[in-house]
Amino acid sequence: MTQDAKLFGYGGRILRVDLSKAAVRVEPTPEKMAREYLGGRGFVAKILWDELPPGVEPFSAENKVVVASGPMSGLFLPSSGKIEMGTKSPATGLYGEGNMGGHLAGELKFAGYDAIIIEGLAPKPCYIMIDDDKVEIRDAAKYWGKGAFETEKMIKGDLGEDFKVATIGPAGENLVVYAVVSHDFGRQVGRTGVGAVLGSKKVKAIAVRGSRGFELADSEGAYKKGKEMFDACFALPGFEDWTPYGTAGVTDWINDIGAFPTRNFQTGYFEKHKNINGAMLKDRILILDKGCTACPIPCGKYSRFNYKGRLIYVEGPEYETIALMGGNLALESIEEVAYANYVADELGLDTISAGSVIGFAIECLEKGVLKPADVGRDVKWGDTDGVAWLLERIARREGIGDILAQGVKAAAAKFGKGSEKFAMHVKGLEISGYESRYAPAMMLAYMTADIGGHHNRAWAITYDAAVGQEKIEGKAWKVIELQHVRPLFDTLGLCRFPWVELGFELHHYADMFALVTGWHYSWEDLLRVSERIWNLTRCFNRREKPDFGRADDLPPPRWMEEPLPSGAGKGHLMSRENAEKMLDEYYALRGWDGNGLPTPAKLKELGLDFVLEKVKLGA
Ligand code: SF4
Repeated sequence: MTQDAKLFGYGGRILRVDLSKAAVRVEPTPEKMAREYLGGRGFVAKILWDELPPGVEPFSAENKVVVASGPMSGLFLPSSGKIEMGTKSPATGLYGEGNMGGHLAGELKFAGYDAIIIEGLAPKPCYIMIDDDKVEIRDAAKYWGKGAFETEKMIKGDLGEDFKVATIGPAGENLVVYAVVSHDFGRQVGRTGVGAVLGSKKVKAIAVRGSRGFELADSEGAYKKGKEMFDACFALPGFEDWTPYGTAGVTDWINDIGAFPTRNFQTGYFEKHKNINGAMLKDRILILDKGCTACPIPCGKYSRFNYKGRLIYVEGPEYETIALMGGNLALESIEEVAYANYVADELGLDTISAGSVIGFAIECLEKGVLKPADVGRDVKWGDTDGVAWLLERIARREGIGDILAQGVKAAAAKFGKGSEKFAMHVKGLEISGYESRYAPAMMLAYMTADIGGHHNRAWAITYDAAVGQEKIEGKAWKVIELQHVRPLFDTLGLCRFPWVELGFELHHYADMFALVTGWHYSWEDLLRVSERIWNLTRCFNRREKPDFGRADDLPPPRWMEEPLPSGAGKGHLMSRENAEKMLDEYYALRGWDGNGLPTPAKLKELGLDFVLEKVKLGA
């Protein structure tokens, strides 16, 4: 790699940690990559494309984990604490990536690094200690086997409270394909199993302390702009409504519009939703608001409650956990949801995938696909202790947990007996918190998300509600727009909630980007970068799965074959014909062919011609 010029807003260096050789190397951040992919998600996608051998095994030495902050991470502007982590996913065999808040993103840049590339396999448990220029691969024997929170506490105790620490729990050590990376006692890179890949490399934690700082193109201008942005944020009308509840505040609305996943997505209406909503969280268990770097609208809700005589503290539950562990498992009180949340977090499991997998297992028991003897005990809807018992078995891979640890798609293939019909996933990734039979734009968002069934690429459900939930046509453009805007935040190293929840104006970000980097990109220029990354990850998926295409974009059978039995969407489903219609509209607007792959002309337009050396596109 070569560096062409001083980069403003960047740490300017990439840290490469080779675990097999026990070697670390510092490389300059290439200016060309920074200009074309910006950072965060863009760096993850480009580095994985360039450096992974096609068809790499997720748990092999050749797979890598890329950790990347963005050019706006850690700055004085609203909500600048997001960091990205990506890998070839063991959950899907495709592009894997997730992000989390907290304080790691800024700290990494303060230490002078834009990204860490973790490669090879360590021979024994280790953690990566980064203290500015001092970088060591250290023994982690005493942390191995410990919970995610416990490990973070121990490492901070050993190194100092000012270290920012990301850890994996037992689930990551045991290669559960939906194991998370945890940080700041409650923030997680949740989806696609990045924690499992770290576990396969025997990396228990990454600890970072930084004091080098980095330069901005116009520090004074950026400070003034940051102040203006905070003032604008505080003045927004939604401020007072959002902050008391965070994401939990949408629970009732999602249920009202028939989109609350209930009993393994059998329906979109949960009769006990008022027991587990934002108001219950606030009134019964919330003790303080907890935010990421420079966040004026903290969505982290730190809770304290008593569960069967145990005093428990946990961050959350936030909406996705309320959906997948509340409605989807029919847990009936906010304390029970928070308890399941706590157990999953400490074990290092993604609450979305774990909630989906356990919901699937309970439905298997309900329908006789599994017998209690197959599982080790009976578990029913609303059975909090049974849920916690299964979470433990999954994380430790004991008994039935060994199968459930491989995700819902693999479990359905193993159990058979028609269970594939109610295994709720897209591309092998369990679906997050929106039942979408009466929300076609949201369903299209799930169908086309590059990592599989996740909502964060395009939270299109508000558009469904705005223009008519029954409407199929004319929604693809909105999904595409969101798929460019939302991941752009992940690329810049920012949280999108000021814009999503409060309507914060997007032009502020382009203005700030120019002051930080000295590069005058319009908002449209930035969106173009996001489109480039979107097309690159699509090509990545095709490279890793040579027949990848249209068939991978279909929703699960339940959504195409079973009408919703209750709630606002009663009677609705997404027929196969309508799903195909939505894909036709979506592909045409994207400039892709009928199989859902970028055309050579589209790749050229986006500066991605190079991908054709490594992937065969077309039908
Ligand atoms: Fe973090 Fe929530 Fe603030 Fe976003 S809104 S920066 S996720 S605390």
